[in-house]
Amino acid sequence: MVNFGGIVPLSTVDWLGKAALVVFLRGCPLRCPHCHNHALQTGESDIEFHALASRIVCRTKGLHTPAIKLRANLHQISLEDASIRASSRPFVEAFVLSGGEPLQQLKACHRLFGLARSLELASGLETSGFYPDRLKTLLEGGIVDKVFIDLKTVLNEPAYQMATGIGGVAARVRESLEICHEFGVAFDARCTVFPELPSCSQVKEIARILEKLGGEYPDSHLEHFVLQQGHPREGESWFEPVSLEAMQEMARAAGQLIPVAVRAPAVIKWAGQISKST
Ligand code: SF4
Repeated sequence: MVNFGGIVPLSTVDWLGKAALVVFLRGCPLRCPHCHNHALQTGESDIEFHALASRIVCRTKGLHTPAIKLRANLHQISLEDASIRASSRPFVEAFVLSGGEPLQQLKACHRLFGLARSLELASGLETSGFYPDRLKTLLEGGIVDKVFIDLKTVLNEPAYQMATGIGGVAARVRESLEICHEFGVAFDARCTVFPELPSCSQVKEIARILEKLGGEYPDSHLEHFVLQQGHPREGESWFEPVSLEAMQEMARAAGQLIPVAVRAPAVIKWAGQISKST
């Protein structure tokens, strides 16, 4: 069974440069006040693994689920079947597991990444870094091509507790970060910037840690350090997001150490008005 959160058949924002199918797993040990997937923090919506697998196979081929006969067991989908489907998929070239915290369901991660491999999709994992041992197990299995690790703020307490609502998380995230560096897996470090956290000096400190680890592990493969503009989630009291200019200033400060990118919803300026698109 998989505690399933949802599926996005085609995303171009989760893995920049790739068209990805994203599966969200429900459940997360953290309680970030601005959680972007608040509805997935808790609850149970179990589905059979083979049902989810069939949906993924159908989506990557661009068919509706009923068009492919559901099988009682995923193991009955042979590699030959899978590669035939893969060869005819229309757009999707990557598979991303997100959440919640996907590593809360390690067995499901293994099976889903195994399925992605058989479909010849590149595999990406979005994680908070809360489960370093589980991350290591997955990387040892060689079934993850890229990790996207969320760094909420500088890796010490009480800053991390303030950002995640839970104590003792910073040390776990630091360990996960070290594992990414050590294994040489391609990874992006992402930091979502909110008005109260992290500050410019904290962003610079994160960049300093990334630079230091990169020096300690010559095979490490940090592809991007991305600053994302944080917005109020649905149902949350509105706040003014940190301005693009302030984020660019942070990027300049941190960019003296490592390359930094800034992501924010596009702002289209017309004469006399401003409209935003995501
Ligand atoms: S780690 Fe992600 S899913 Fe979990 S509470 Fe924080 S923002 Fe939400």
